[in-house]
Amino acid sequence: AQERNKYVKGKKLGSGQYADVFSAYLVTDPTQLVAIKKIKVGAEVKEMGISYDSLREIRFLQELDHPNIIKLYSVFSTKNQNLNLVLEQLPQGDLLKLIQDTQNISYTPADVKAWMLMLMRAVHFCHANFILHRDIKPNNLLIAANGEIKLADFGLARSFADPYQPMTYNTITIWYRPPELFFQAQFYGGAVDVWSCGAVFAELISRDVLFRAWPESEMNMVKLICEKVGTPTEENWPGVSKLKGYVTPTEIQPVRPKDYWLANFRTIGEIGVDLLMKMLTLDPKVRLSAEGVLKHEYWTSAPRPSKLEALPRKG
Ligand code: ADP
Repeated sequence: AQERNKYVKGKKLGSGQYADVFSAYLVTDPTQLVAIKKIKVGAEVKEMGISYDSLREIRFLQELDHPNIIKLYSVFSTKNQNLNLVLEQLPQGDLLKLIQDTQNISYTPADVKAWMLMLMRAVHFCHANFILHRDIKPNNLLIAANGEIKLADFGLARSFADPYQPMTYNTITIWYRPPELFFQAQFYGGAVDVWSCGAVFAELISRDVLFRAWPESEMNMVKLICEKVGTPTEENWPGVSKLKGYVTPTEIQPVRPKDYWLANFRTIGEIGVDLLMKMLTLDPKVRLSAEGVLKHEYWTSAPRPSKLEALPRKG
């Protein structure tokens, strides 16, 4: 049977920047709920077709099987060659909603540790399978009914989306993007995701975006990174001045010392702050890898990460 005939489409769950998401269930088993993400494919993709590389990457994502990564069950196309991703349905919202709901939701450093551990396990698993996520942020961390965090929204789907057909007015945020991407580094790796995870870590603790560039421009992002982390220079990041997008700074903010971070993030303690700083290190070669993050003493020092049942949920 055709893949698309295996599902009965129900109500709309939401819509994002480039896709509408619908609830659906399996014809053969109505108790099996899924989410169908319908991506409006761009004209260019329609003309050229979906490349062999992209198809290979989708197949690869379908084979990624980890408790903290959203399950991609299948992919099919419908009329106008729109792309439909059949995903695990996660109706509990995302981490951003919890962070922002300061009125109703409170959480502890142990909860933050539990969420971060699930996130880092997902990221490490991706990297071990040679997949970079490239767009880790709190609203891409969906919450399952049992409290588990699921990394969602791999950049791949977006690469098919039609840039002239925005689904909503919110734009793709650059707040979680690492400095090497602003400097247009040609070669980058897993360190890009670790930076984003560091920004999520900081946001979970302070309940505020760490690098909230406004207006949201690349120039303002670089400015904020210089101000909060330190100005990238040949001393703290050998080779940085040779990157294409590097602009020689007029003022230099020395790399912020531990005391600066402790003053702002004291609730996670000195060990937590040590990890945070190593995730937000300017030079991607020095920044911890996802594996390095998981080996940090933060995870085994007090407090223990909260149990799933104890994690706060959307009200
Ligand atoms: P965004 O553009 O915010 O990343 P998406 O395009 O991924 O959002 O999804 C849009 C909305 O659809 C989300 O805000 C969420 O409410 C809902 N949604 C997305 N994926 C799922 C899912 N797997 N299960 C349930 N709801 C989902």
